[in-house]
Amino acid sequence: MNIKEAKFLMSNTRVEDCPAPDKPEYAFIGRSNVGKSSLINMLTHQKGLAKTSAAPGKTQLINHFLINDSWYLVDLPGYGYAQVSKKSREDWRKMINYYFQKRENLTCVFALIDARHEPLKQDLDFINHLGTLGVPFVLVFTKLDKQSAAKTDSTIAAYQRKLRETWDELPQMFRTSAELKTGRDEILNFIEEVNAQ
Ligand code: GDP
Repeated sequence: MNIKEAKFLMSNTRVEDCPAPDKPEYAFIGRSNVGKSSLINMLTHQKGLAKTSAAPGKTQLINHFLINDSWYLVDLPGYGYAQVSKKSREDWRKMINYYFQKRENLTCVFALIDARHEPLKQDLDFINHLGTLGVPFVLVFTKLDKQSAAKTDSTIAAYQRKLRETWDELPQMFRTSAELKTGRDEILNFIEEVNAQ
């Protein structure tokens, strides 16, 4: 898919205020600093489209972008800030769960994982939670350029082993580097194919 136009639409705290659910929607989420803004900017070819995550304590927002006038890209607030208050964490959990359950046009969640780390409990818990909710999702391993291909293979294999403990079917997995633009065609083609179904 060619991205001809990517524009920011709005930021919301409430799912009810989000744009009319009249187009397929793809949401991006992951631990803070995983490379989510960089990936969104790489996919859309727009450097400043997604802003680096807000500082801890700032309002957590659901950010909608309209792509090619035909689908929504959503930048969801990340998880895993070390110094976040219990209340902020709870607010995040409620908002995200509500979004996953109520957003009727949500087509697929891209769960981002830093390829440099062995499976982290926080990431595994989040992935398992998506599975439990029955939300369609794929995994996106980020920052490939920071290490050897062998190390990335080993991280991905470790995730596969962990997820097989709970699930019969494994999600699709993408390898990306915002730095090298790796994985861009694969993700955009995936979205194009799902949109065509
Ligand atoms: P976010 O908090 O998930 O939105 O993460 P950012 O996109 O702001 O990225 C966090 C940090 O990782 C920044 O310093 C980025 O420059 C860096 N980063 C993100 N993606 C990549 C990548 O693919 N390769 C490299 N080398 N650095 C990356």
